[in-house]
Amino acid sequence: MDLTLTAAELSFQAEVRDFLEAELKPEWRGVSHVDNRTQPAIMAQWQAVLAKKGWLTAGWPAANGGLGWSPMQHHIFKEACSKARAPKIPTMSIGMIGPLICVFGSPAQQAFYLPRIVSGADIWCQGFSEPGSGSDLASLKTAARREGDDYIVSGQKIWTSYAHLASQMFCLVRTDPLAARPQAGITMLLIDMTLPGITVRPIRTIDGEHHFNEVFLDDVRVPVRCRLGGEHKGWDVARALLAFERSGIADVVATRQVLGDVAAIAAGEKRDNASLLDDDDFANRLARLEIALDSLEIFEMRVMEATEREAAKEYDVSLLKILGSELKQKIHMLGIEALGRFAAAWPDDDAPVHPSGAGAKLVVDALFYRAGSIYGGANEIQRNIVAKSLLKSASEI
Ligand SMILES: Cc1cc2nc3c(=O)[nH]c(=O)nc-3n(C[C@H](O)[C@H](O)[C@H](O)COP(=O)(O)OP(=O)(O)OC[C@H]3O[C@@H](n4cnc5c(N)ncnc54)[C@H](O)[C@@H]3O)c2cc1C
Repeated sequence: MDLTLTAAELSFQAEVRDFLEAELKPEWRGVSHVDNRTQPAIMAQWQAVLAKKGWLTAGWPAANGGLGWSPMQHHIFKEACSKARAPKIPTMSIGMIGPLICVFGSPAQQAFYLPRIVSGADIWCQGFSEPGSGSDLASLKTAARREGDDYIVSGQKIWTSYAHLASQMFCLVRTDPLAARPQAGITMLLIDMTLPGITVRPIRTIDGEHHFNEVFLDDVRVPVRCRLGGEHKGWDVARALLAFERSGIADVVATRQVLGDVAAIAAGEKRDNASLLDDDDFANRLARLEIALDSLEIFEMRVMEATEREAAKEYDVSLLKILGSELKQKIHMLGIEALGRFAAAWPDDDAPVHPSGAGAKLVVDALFYRAGSIYGGANEIQRNIVAKSLLKSASEI
C-alpha cells in the first residue's frame, strides 16, 4: 500500500492543520480523554466547532451530512487532530449510534435524533452488557413486552459507560423469549434516560475515575416509535454497530502520539551523560513497537478501505481490535517503565511529577487501557472469531 500523499491530500492536510491552528484553543489541548472531570465540557465545545465546519459527521452517509472522505483523508484528519492534541470526538454518538441511525433509522427517527447528536443535545450510552451476558451477549435477559404503543422494559445492564452523563441509551432487549435461537428474539430500543423507572449506579475503576455504571430498568415504558430496526431484528442492528465500535478501537494515530511521549520521557531520563534512549535493550524494544505500529497503520488503512467498499471481513475487524488494543497496552507499559519512580505520581497528589509533564496522564491512560482488551468484545472472543473464520476458509481449500 502506497502511503505517499498526493498533491490533493497534501493540500487537505494543510487545510486541516490551518483549521486546528485557528480553532483549537490552547486550554482544550492535551486533556486526557479518560478524564471525566474536565473532558465532557471541553469535548462539547470542540464538537460545536467541528459541527460548524461540517467535519464532525464527515464519515456519515452523504445524505446525512457525510463528506465522502477517502480513508486517507480520514487518516490525515485524525492524525492532525492527534498531533494537535485535540479533544476526542464522542465515539458513542458520532462514531456509533449516529451512523447506525443513518442506516437503520426511519425518516422520522433520522429527523429527530441526528440533529440532536450533531448539536450535542444528546449524549448516548450503550446498554448491551448485563451481569452474566457480556461475551455471550445473545443470552441477555432484559425483557420488553409489548403493551399497546409501548414496550414495558425490565432488567439490568452493567458496565454502561457514561450512563451517568447520558440522555439516551441504545439498548438491546429480549422481545421474544421463546425464539428458536437466542439471537432471534432481540430488539434494539432507543431509550430516553429520563423516563421513570431508570436508576443509574456508579462503578469506579482502577484509574480512580467514574466511567461506567449499572443501569436498572424497572417497568420503563418506551414508545414503540423508539425501536431501531424491526422487532426481534436487533441482533443484525447490533452486529453492524459492533463492527463500527471494533474498527475504531485500534486508533493508531492516538497510539503513535503515546509512543512519541514514551520516547520523549526516555530521552529526558539521563544518567552519566546518556539517556534511556541510549540503552540498547530499551531502544530495541521501542523500535520494535514502532515497527509494529507502522504495520498496524497499514492494516488499519486496508480495513478502512474495505469497509468503504462494504468488503471488510469480520475477522479482519477482530484482528485489528486485538492487535490495536494489545499494542496500545504494550506501549503504555514501556512508558511506565521509562517513568520509573515517577509512575507512582497521581494527577491530584503531591508525588514528584516527571519533568516532561506527560507522566501522570500516561499512568492514568495506561490503567484505563488495561480495559482495551475487554471492551468492544474481549480479545479471547475476537480470537475465536478469527480462528473460526480462518479454519473454515482453510477447510474449504
Ligand atoms: C472500560 C469498559 C467499558 C465498557 N463499556 C460498555 C458499555 O458502554 N456498554 C456495554 O454494554 N458494555 C460495556 N462494557 C462491557 C464489555 O463489553 C464486556 O466487559 C465484555 O464484552 C466482556 O464481557 P464480561 O465482562 O461479561 O466478561 P465475560 O464474558 O464473563 O468473560 C470473562 C472472561 O472469560 C473469557 N471468555 C468468555 N467466554 C469465552 C469463550 N467462549 N472463549 C474464550 N474465552 C472466553 C473472556 O474473554 C474474559 O476474559 C465495557 C467494558 C469495559 C471494560
